[in-house]
Amino acid sequence: MSGFHASVITLYPEMFPGPLGVSLSGKALEDGLWRLETLFLRDFGRGRHRAVDDTPAGGGAGMVLRPDVVAEAVEAVSPEGDARPRLLLSPRGRPLTQARVRALADGPGAVLLCGRFEGVDQRAIEHCRLEEVSIGDYVLSGGELAAMVLIDAVVRLLPGVMGNPLSGAFESFETGLLEHDHYTRPRDFAGRAIPDILLSGDHAKIEAWRRENARALTGARRPDLLAGRRGHD
Ligand code: SAM
Repeated sequence: MSGFHASVITLYPEMFPGPLGVSLSGKALEDGLWRLETLFLRDFGRGRHRAVDDTPAGGGAGMVLRPDVVAEAVEAVSPEGDARPRLLLSPRGRPLTQARVRALADGPGAVLLCGRFEGVDQRAIEHCRLEEVSIGDYVLSGGELAAMVLIDAVVRLLPGVMGNPLSGAFESFETGLLEHDHYTRPRDFAGRAIPDILLSGDHAKIEAWRRENARALTGARRPDLLAGRRGHD
């Protein structure tokens, strides 16, 4: 059994496993290739109403998750000595990349704190050494979907999850390029044919075509990736 163990701290545990419970990740969960645990943040709330948030110091809109509540939850699920990284899903975080996903997949798991409202008290972030991770330059209403995105990306890389272990190796971002175009049957569709070379059986030429196609696509859509790749080939 793989050691990948995801612990998600959330105000909405009922959202899990959600989409992670179907298809590749769902089957892998069932097969014990990874483990998912949710922790209900409100269980650590204060007072009769189990309050987890309070008004922002300095005023302003929205509410902020309390540091004492967050720290207790994080420490309950990830005591001293737990080697797993503690991640806070946050639009302020470092953008998630395939390289980071692969590093996480090679590790023991992750503790994922899902923010809500305006965010988390800064002292909890520092005290618990939470690493802020963003899934993109837009704002979601909560960290749960972001946590699912991260977990899904990791789980599909775990040994035994994908049918063909090579299918992950040449995908978008793995080589520093976006992936080449794909085609399948029928040979002609709506007046468009599959490029002849892909039907030629000449594997060297097919490889060269795919490399060139990927490079052109990446140049058109993500020149930033090409720039970061200079010197690779
Ligand atoms: N006030 C925050 C800001 O401007 O940075 C946004 C808070 S957002 C409404 C609530 C929660 O959703 C965040 O604490 C975070 O956990 C999650 N979230 C929103 N956008 C995200 C993103 N792009 N990546 C990861 N998590 C995100």
